[in-house]
Amino acid sequence: DHGRVINFGAGPSALPLSVLEEAQKGLLNFQGTGMGVAEISHRSKEFQTFLSDFEANIRTQLDVPPTHRILFTQGGGTAQFSAVVLNLLARYRLLRPDAAPADTEARRLSAGATVRTVVDARVYSKDGRSFDNIPPHAEFAFSADPALIYYCENETVDGVEFSHDPQSPAAFPFHLLPRDKLVPLVADYSSSFMCRPIPHLADHAVIYAGAQKNIGPAGLTILIVREDCIVDVDAAAKLGATPVPLILSYKTLADSGSLYNTPSVLAIYMAGLVLERMKQNGGLPYYEEVNRRKAKKVYAAIHEGEQKGVFRRKVQQGSESWMNVVFEVLGEGAEKKFLDGAEKQGMKGLKGHRSVGGIRVSLYNAVTEEEVDKLVAYMTEFMAQAA
Ligand code: PMP
Repeated sequence: DHGRVINFGAGPSALPLSVLEEAQKGLLNFQGTGMGVAEISHRSKEFQTFLSDFEANIRTQLDVPPTHRILFTQGGGTAQFSAVVLNLLARYRLLRPDAAPADTEARRLSAGATVRTVVDARVYSKDGRSFDNIPPHAEFAFSADPALIYYCENETVDGVEFSHDPQSPAAFPFHLLPRDKLVPLVADYSSSFMCRPIPHLADHAVIYAGAQKNIGPAGLTILIVREDCIVDVDAAAKLGATPVPLILSYKTLADSGSLYNTPSVLAIYMAGLVLERMKQNGGLPYYEEVNRRKAKKVYAAIHEGEQKGVFRRKVQQGSESWMNVVFEVLGEGAEKKFLDGAEKQGMKGLKGHRSVGGIRVSLYNAVTEEEVDKLVAYMTEFMAQAA
């Protein structure tokens, strides 16, 4: 077993053992080239074929329509905080050349544009200051003609996620979006990409995700961009939009087939192996079912612990993340005891984000149901001892 433990880390996070073993071979000799994948040119025929197969695999599994391009870049979700703002402000400038120069990064880059918080979840939280819920639909106040609308599908730190059940009050309110044109809807899917199908994918302008949670190592960012959002940023700059660095421009990426500069070859390779394995396992319907069961089991254990006064949930009912399950262990020194006990049984990565504390169990695709069962058995054992 290579001395490996069960890794519940939030990212970078566990990868399937079979992929790691396959990647060892590729590191030595990539597809019979006699060169390892970290040593080979990104312009080689072998790598370019691999890259287009990878893209096709994402397109098929997520059912990405021909209206949308799939692009690869670097810089993680953080670079996209800037890139989506710059590209979509350029788009808006081209659509509305006469308009007055129309959250943190949006404000910095928007040169006078208004930034509206569509809804502040903290207002609806239990303590008035936490992100523990998806607010009621009636409270979402979209602008009439926005340059972009942004949401984070799964909030990794606080463990809050939009529901994918369209009947749920915690589903994203797609029905409330401005309907008369191509909506500039942007979704950060960094911590939930490829864990289940993406609802209303075709209604999005941009979806982006770092690879380092569900599908690979850090260093690769996947973008799904609708064609009308791939704009001539220089033409927009002439009209007064903020100039866009070439490497952040979606047009640069699209025109070069995501090979404007050297991509993260190794990260793409490993993510490609993960996607291939996902396909063989039955694709997203399979992962959706397994991930649903995994999350349900952990939330049930938290609920049981709550009845016994041992654990406390942090997220309000209906808004719970499937990928990042957060809770508290009650009592002086109890959290440390919980973490130490888990580590003794070979379970790591359970400490909550440094900004909020508590426990965070990340249940990305590579975490198996058997591993989740082990954690739940440990939680049950912990409850018995604490009660
Ligand atoms: N968005 C979400 C939802 C995230 O979880 C993270 C990282 N944890 C980021 C953005 C930032 O991504 P990166 O570290 O790849 O820049």
